[in-house]
Amino acid sequence: MKHKKVKNNQGFSLVELIIVIAILAILAGFLAAAYVKHLKEARAAVCLENRDRLYKEMNAKYADGTYDSLKEAYNKLMENYKNRKLCPSKGTYSWEANGDGINQIVCSVHGAPSDTDNGNKDSGKTFPGTDLAINSGVWPKSEDFKDNYEEILYHPSGIFEYEGSYYVITKDLTLTRERAASGPGGEVYPWTSTEKLTGKIYEMTDDDERISGIKRGDLVKYKDSYYVYNSGDGPEGTWAPNPNTGSNVWYKIPK
Ligand SMILES: [Zn+2]
Repeated sequence: MKHKKVKNNQGFSLVELIIVIAILAILAGFLAAAYVKHLKEARAAVCLENRDRLYKEMNAKYADGTYDSLKEAYNKLMENYKNRKLCPSKGTYSWEANGDGINQIVCSVHGAPSDTDNGNKDSGKTFPGTDLAINSGVWPKSEDFKDNYEEILYHPSGIFEYEGSYYVITKDLTLTRERAASGPGGEVYPWTSTEKLTGKIYEMTDDDERISGIKRGDLVKYKDSYYVYNSGDGPEGTWAPNPNTGSNVWYKIPK
């Protein structure tokens, strides 16, 4: 009886303390593993996104005759971006062409594009009412910006989805933590690099000189290409010239 009372007053025994510490250590280990896995996946997704943008840009430069070969386009672009952090895991890129029509940008850390599952559920979807592919369903979250990758490079290309709205990037865009936190067209740099698409789609023929009632973010289909109207508009909308006039109020969405 006396022995039992003394034991109760001792609080934790050494063995109990060791067990509690061991359980805490195991829990901490699980959390750390989940965090590292999230970081790894986010870095691989950023690297893949940047390679995808580069790939589209070099193909566009080759297609419009700026460069004579894809290889030359790749080399020139890599020169332009040599001071940018393209791979968050510090991988280096190389151009791989095997002659069987497989051309790809390979990362020394993340491998070929097919080696990364970016979990992009929206890939392959099209913008409603058009045949425009949604290239990226991922707008990076500010918490994805860690350590050595505070920058993500975006090139104008296609449409992406963010919180149920569609956007098109209308010029080269470098994302920072603040920019990612604000979302496209957010508070930090409103309307500087992205246009929110309203979903209204007009069709123009050669004979149409202008289009009326158009609002910022509306799309026009003209000669099998899509253009975003990215100038201001009044409450009733406004008129815009035919994209053929070369007016800078139109942003042509790259195919
Ligand atoms: Zn990489």
